[in-house]
Amino acid sequence: MSWRDLMCGEPRAEHVGQTLTLAGWAARRRDHGGLVFIDLRDRLGLMQLVVNPECAPAAAELAKEIRNEFVLKVTGEVVARSPDTVNAKMPTGEVELQVNELEIVSRSTPLPFQLDEEGVDETLRLRYRWLDLRTDRMQRNLRLSGAAVSAIRRRMEELCFVDLWTPSMTRATPEGARDFLVPVRLQPGTFFALPQSPQLFKQLFMIAGFDRYYQIATCFRDEDLRADRQFEFRQLDVEMAFAEREDVLAVLEQAVRAAFQALDREPPVTPFPWLTWNEAMTRFGSDKPDLRFELEIQDATELTRESEFGVFANASSVRYLVAPTVYSRGALARLEELVKEWGAKGLAYLVVDESGEVRSPIAKFLSEGELGVLSGQPGSTVLFAAGEPRAVARILGLLRLHLGGELDLVDTGRDEFLWVVDFPLFEPDEETGGWTFSHHPFTGVAAGHEELLESDPGSALSQAYDLVWNGWELGSGSIRIHRQDVQQRVFRALGLTEEEAKEKFGFLLDALQMGAPPHGGFALGLDRFVALLAGEPNIREVIAFPKVSSGSDPLTGAPASVPEEQLAELGIRLVEEPQ
Ligand code: ASP
Repeated sequence: MSWRDLMCGEPRAEHVGQTLTLAGWAARRRDHGGLVFIDLRDRLGLMQLVVNPECAPAAAELAKEIRNEFVLKVTGEVVARSPDTVNAKMPTGEVELQVNELEIVSRSTPLPFQLDEEGVDETLRLRYRWLDLRTDRMQRNLRLSGAAVSAIRRRMEELCFVDLWTPSMTRATPEGARDFLVPVRLQPGTFFALPQSPQLFKQLFMIAGFDRYYQIATCFRDEDLRADRQFEFRQLDVEMAFAEREDVLAVLEQAVRAAFQALDREPPVTPFPWLTWNEAMTRFGSDKPDLRFELEIQDATELTRESEFGVFANASSVRYLVAPTVYSRGALARLEELVKEWGAKGLAYLVVDESGEVRSPIAKFLSEGELGVLSGQPGSTVLFAAGEPRAVARILGLLRLHLGGELDLVDTGRDEFLWVVDFPLFEPDEETGGWTFSHHPFTGVAAGHEELLESDPGSALSQAYDLVWNGWELGSGSIRIHRQDVQQRVFRALGLTEEEAKEKFGFLLDALQMGAPPHGGFALGLDRFVALLAGEPNIREVIAFPKVSSGSDPLTGAPASVPEEQLAELGIRLVEEPQ
């Protein structure tokens, strides 16, 4: 017995006259005075079935019981539809199957939602994910994901990278998030950490002589969930020995191109342009700038040093954006509310009308020279931020994105990839007042900046780089530290004592002393990449079984409490009963 001769989406006019068996799900059933029409669905499409009580009385009787999402097996003759009933929108729309035999293979209870329903609550979709995954959208997204990921694998293997596996139960691997911990029954009171990335293992592969490693690695990070973040996610994880930065970037560009090609899309032009971190922050106020629109931040710090407007004269940074529109008072008030939410004290502005006339509460404090430079573009609104440089960059960066959306400046038909390079090695750690790493503690120090590790850590640049696509960070990487002494100095700059460094990373420090080649790598966030490829705003739409924003899984009910005996075995007692 064969379940089917063709898939539901395959019959065409050339099959007319053939007797076929098809199997699939009942997508829709309509009764037309005796005749029953059923759309039968499988992964390749829909086929219209017609059950005629005069030709197939038993099938017609049974067809009355069919409801949406029943699984059916049918046998019948492919017949041409009459010209007025041809459905040009369906690939199978020229034909239908005149059913002779019908079997209900599997039934369905009433559905919590219909597959073609719009706006179904997401928790409900996730609770019944097996149904949700039957929708065209999710079928498309997951298949697209599969195609992109396997094309990337193929390309990596063509480039002689070896797929090597690394443990999921390990020691903490610092990537800036909290760890998920796994208690260990055999050694109560001890814990494995789930890897935030396979960072140290891939470095050890380089030291072990595997020149080119890659893995589609699952990483675990205990962070608040967002549109582009889940507790666990997949990365294309890459490491290369004896490689320069350009070599690593070229490999990643190949992987990106392979994914585009697999989806029959024009791949982006390579090599991707580079921006230094400093330039990205200065011109776009972001380390992941969206370059699909211009609107660059401009500087007025020098211009306003002597200004009578004290807010400008006293600020260490005065910068502005020229929005190409004459904003009304009401609109400006709304923008001010926004920038205040982002931490600004207020919003200074100049409205320059079409005739070049300036309207602004601060105009009277500005000299002709200042106004001359600032109000050069009729039909615009100049929006300022003044204060400490990092804060000014951040606020104008957010404002730039907001204006890009509000004024429809983003050319959504464009794809803009870029590399951001030369990141600072450290950033201020607000909790301790010391320094924390910008990427991870194994990132190489920029050539000639080693001395700054002790004298001026905040100015040291790193050998890290990020890949950005249309304003989304797709991933990060770096040329690593391959000298034990430099690694020690970085740990020291991060405030780790020698004992602490040895305790946590002794194995790495040892390995770095036994013939460590220069090496570097990258990790590309696959779920983010696939979401962008699919045009989905949220990575949950490209992950089969994601968590909701509270961190739980409506499908399985995880996370869940466990019986006390199980905890006791692990040497764990809860201090507080769960709510
Ligand atoms: N381990 C880094 C990350 O997961 C990537 C890298 O440096 O290769 O972001």
